This record gives sequence, structure tokens and C-alpha cells, in this order.
Amino acid sequence: MRLKVLGSNSRGNGYILENDKEALIIEAGIHLLDAKKALNFNIAKVSTAIVSHEHNDHAGYIDKYLDTGITTLCSAHVVKAKSLKSSFVRIVEANKGYKAGSFRIIPFNLKHDVPCLGYIVEHDDMGRLLFITDTMMCEYTFPNLNHILLECNYADDILTRNIEAGQMDAGMRSRLMHTHMELNTCKGILKANNLNNVMNIVLIHLSDGNSDEKRFIDEITALTGKQVYAANKGLELEISKTPF
Ligand SMILES: [Zn+2]
Ligand SMILES: [Zn+2]
Repeated sequence: MRLKVLGSNSRGNGYILENDKEALIIEAGIHLLDAKKALNFNIAKVSTAIVSHEHNDHAGYIDKYLDTGITTLCSAHVVKAKSLKSSFVRIVEANKGYKAGSFRIIPFNLKHDVPCLGYIVEHDDMGRLLFITDTMMCEYTFPNLNHILLECNYADDILTRNIEAGQMDAGMRSRLMHTHMELNTCKGILKANNLNNVMNIVLIHLSDGNSDEKRFIDEITALTGKQVYAANKGLELEISKTPF
């Protein structure tokens, strides 16, 4: 299985999991054409798309994905917010299991300023992948993880510096605190989970102004001893099941 990052920030989010036979698209915040290009225009191999929440950087193009006939899993909140009518919508509920092609999918609730779902995605080719974005925290732990895509949006000290320098509005702190994941929260989640079988940690949705990619990677690497990446557009990773 291959992970392709189409975009991972407040301007647009999109990720593809793809093997020779099938693919799963995570988020519909990237123009459909970019997803098509990444799939070599083989849209027919897409088993499903999964969408976390209604904000445009995650769901801005959801109607286009649906119009192309891509089955898309999302919550009833997204359907309402985006007035979706397509028969390709599949409404999902937290903590229930879904199947699409050979992918097994379990959504769970996160804490953002609108209802937001994280996802566990399983496939025999890659094992168990955790996807968490746009949340102040996560109240669950997850057994048997093999790959982690985890928001690491900002560091509080960088945010403080930006506010003191007048580059960021002071109200930003309480907004971010309740909507996006801070570096130490990200570390806390990684510490709370058993990482024995984790092969890759991909830090996603880094803030433009309040993050430091190299530092985040260094600190998470030091904490976990794992292979850590920042989800820059164009990143491609081979994510196979057998760890070592
Ligand atoms: Zn976002
Ligand atoms: Zn959001």
C-alpha cells in the first residue's frame, strides 16, 4: 500500500491510500483533478472516500467527488452542512464498522468547533492506520496500530511568540486551544498508545505560522523512536504491513 499526500493544511487536505487494485481517498478538500492525477486517472479503483468534517479545507470539493460517482463516507452533519443529495453519500456513525472494497473503516468522534470524525482504516496490505485531524484532543486509545496520521497543528510557545510580536491576534489562542492539536497534546496521544507495531508517524495539518516542521519531527522522533514525517504535498510513503 502506498500513502500519497495531496495536501495537508488549512488550504486543503487530501490523502490517498493505494495499492495495485484499489484506493481509498481521505478528505475531499483538494481539487478532484489533483486526486485524479495522483490516481493516474483510474478513478474506478477508488473503493471509497472518507471525510472528517464539513470545513472546506476537508470537504470543499465533496460534491465534485460524489458527482464522479465516488462513494463517500461522512457524518449526517456534513450531509446537512453541504446540502448533499447524491446517492453516493454513505452516512456513517461513530464507533460503527464499515467496509468498502477490502478496506475496513471505523469512525470515532473528535473535538473540533463542528462535529468531526477521526477514522481507523484497516487493510490487509497495510494493517491498521489511525487518522486524526482538526481536534483539540482525542479521548480514545487504539490497539494494534501500524501507521499514524496525526494532527500536530501548533506549538504553544510559537503561538505565544507570534501573539507577543503582534503577528497573531490574542483571541487566536483560545480558538486554537479548542479546535486544533497542540504539540504536547500530540505527544500525549502518542505516549498513551502502544506504538510497538507502529512503522510510520505522519504529522498532518501543520499551521503555517505557528508550527516548526523540523522541530516537530525531531521532538516526535525523540519521543517515539519511530519514522516521523511531516505531510507535505507530494509526500509518498510505502506503508506495508510487516514491520521489520
Ligand atoms: Zn482543517
Ligand atoms: Zn476544521
